[in-house]
Formats: sequence, C-alpha cells, structure tokens
Amino acid sequence: MPETAPPVRTAPALSERLQTMAPSPTIAASARARALAREGKPVLELTVGEPDFDTPEHIREAAHKAIRDGKTRYTPSGGIPELKGAVARKLHRENGVEYDPATEVCICNGGKQALYNVMVALLNPGDEVIVPVPTWATFADQVALVGGVPVLVPMGPDNRLRVADLEGRVTPRTKAVIVNSPSNPTGAVMHPEDVLAITRFAMAHGIFVVADDTYEHFLYDGAKHQFSANGVDGARDWVLAVNTVSKTYAMTGWRIGYVAGPSRIVKAIDALMTQTTSNPSSIAQWAAVEALDGPQVCVHEMVAEFDARRQMFVSGLRAVGYECPMPEGAFYAYPRIPLQADGSPGDSNAYAMRLLNDAHVSCVGGKAFFDEGTLRMSYAASRAVLQEVLDRLSRFGH
Ligand code: PLP
Repeated sequence: MPETAPPVRTAPALSERLQTMAPSPTIAASARARALAREGKPVLELTVGEPDFDTPEHIREAAHKAIRDGKTRYTPSGGIPELKGAVARKLHRENGVEYDPATEVCICNGGKQALYNVMVALLNPGDEVIVPVPTWATFADQVALVGGVPVLVPMGPDNRLRVADLEGRVTPRTKAVIVNSPSNPTGAVMHPEDVLAITRFAMAHGIFVVADDTYEHFLYDGAKHQFSANGVDGARDWVLAVNTVSKTYAMTGWRIGYVAGPSRIVKAIDALMTQTTSNPSSIAQWAAVEALDGPQVCVHEMVAEFDARRQMFVSGLRAVGYECPMPEGAFYAYPRIPLQADGSPGDSNAYAMRLLNDAHVSCVGGKAFFDEGTLRMSYAASRAVLQEVLDRLSRFGH
C-alpha cells in the first residue's frame, strides 16, 4: 500500500498572553547596544540598572564555603531557614517590623520573581493593580502577564506618589497599588508621610500595597526611606514587601530576592515555587545570608561612590544643556529631552536611538516607563565612563 502523506497542519500559536507581552525594554535596549559593540563600535552603556562593582569578597567567600561544605542540593522551595531568618532580622533591624521567618518570608529567584509570584498569588483575570507612572515597565507587564489590568496613574511633576494621585482610581476590581521608592526609573524618593498616607488609603479601600524597596539603601542628600508596613497600626496585614540583594550588595547575577507579608499569601507563593522553579540556588542563598548578616561597610562605600557619580553626572548633564532633576535615590538620572517643534514632549525612543547610533551612548527612552520626553541613564558606571558620556553628549549637541 502506498503511504499517504499526513495532512499538513499549522502548529499551534503562542499563547495569547505571550503574544502581547513585549520583552523588557531595558533588556532589549541593552541587547541593541551589545550588538553595536560586537560590530566594533565604542558603545558606552548606561542602559541596565546594574552596579558595576564586584560582589564584596566576604559574600563571595560564603558561596565558596557553601560549595566546599556540600550545600549543593535542593533546599526547601521557599528558601533555607537560615536565609529566611537573616531576612527577618534585616526587616526588623532596618525596617522596624517583626516577621515570622517560618511563615511570613519567602525567598525567590530575584526581586523580579518575587513580584511576579505576588501577582500570581493576588490576581484573577480582570483584576486591577494601580501602577504609578513613570514606572519600571515590569510592574505593569507582570500584571498583564497574569491576566490582570495595570491601571497607569500619572504622578505629579516631581514624580513622587501622593494619595491625591490615587483618588477615584480604586474600583471593585482593584487588588493592589505599587509603591516603589526610591523609584526606578526616576530616582525620586517619596516623602515618608506620603508613604504612610498611601498605606492608610490602601487599608481603607481594602487593597494591598505592593512595596518594592529594591533601592532603599541608595539615598542621598539626607533623604529617608519609609517602609510601607511600619508606622500604621495593622499595616503588616496589607503590605507585601518585596526586596532583593541584587543592587544593595552588587549581586545581580546571584538571583536572590524575597517577599515578606501576610502568612496566607506567603504560603501560597511558597506553594507556587514548589510547582515552578523550586528553590533559588542553594549557593546563592548562603551568600545572601552573609550579605544580610555580615558587615555592611561595603554598602556604605558603594552608596558614597554612587553619590559622587550622581553629583558629577547630573551637573554635567545640566552643563551640556539637559534639564535634569537631582535624584535623591537609586542610581538613575532622568533628564528631559528637547521639546518637538509643536511644543509636545520629544520622542524619547527616536532620541535614544540617535544617541546610540551617532554618539554610541546607550540609554533608555522614557516611553519604556510609560512616560515621554525623558531618558533614563544609569550612573552605575565608572566616573571615567560617565565623563566620556558627557563629552560625547556635548559633541552630540543637545
Ligand atoms: N524592582 C525594581 C524597581 C528594579 O529596578 C529591579 C531591577 O532592575 C528589581 C525589582 C529586580 O531585581 P532582581 O530581580 O535583580 O532582584
């Protein structure tokens, strides 16, 4: 019998969720810069929010020791008790709130996964999360990825979130509001009383605060960080506190972040970890114990260096003609680009692309942060690189 060819079928399409999801714009911009660099162009990278320091030696040594001691097996999915304990001690010492390490802390593969897990735990399709803009795109994209609706709420001109920005934005579908101070991308630091007012607002409306404290140590000019769950009675039941060792300890590659909050949610996230990634790297977890429990001078030294770069870089941007607020936190400058001829904000993506192609300076257009007319430039680069960027910008002509 001659064989008949099977009918040709079209392979199934990608899930609708992933068809609409764009890759992280920051990572995409960085990939473009690297492609140009591979062609031999002298590209200077101010794209990714990544400290240029090596992980401090005592933290690396803790990882070596973990390997030597054979701590190389699966751990509990939500992290080793020693790291949960170190996180709880840190939250008590630095943020003034006591958490039970066994039931109220979960260790994840970076702050990004901690945030994603929070969204999976909280949202049904169609549920809303208030995302103040300008924002790190991941907040909005993760909400959408799990079927939720990011409700983008513009902040005032100083990019500090206030209760007034949220009035009228809560609906019966709202589950949470994002608080990210110091902010990625603007470096703005919220006033402590506004953080507390937003916690009260959330509690009064029966919604959660998802507080991303990733940049809490990167503070300048006397700015203070306010922990969302400290300072309002009962707030710890309404706050999901997400943090990471990535930036504070120059540990971006180690992938350790965490979430602390009400035990029923943390328990659900722990269960989610059992079905998705299982535990974060055992070795990285031991290194993170040392980061949190060990000496903190390294943090102060790195922050002092970021402060010096911030002042030098932002004054330099102003000197070459950019209007740029002096950020009080994080490690990003957020200059404005020239207005269009009709007076509307400049096209940030086109401007960033011209900067990349003509001056070989890579940064991210404000559009990536649901903003326009701005650029985000990370000053987590050496002073020599920052000076060279300023020289090129001055030649590029504002
Ligand atoms: N949150 C904010 C605001 C960030 O900017 C970042 C990284 O850029 C993260 C969370 C996640 O960091 P990681 O996943 O490296 O811990």
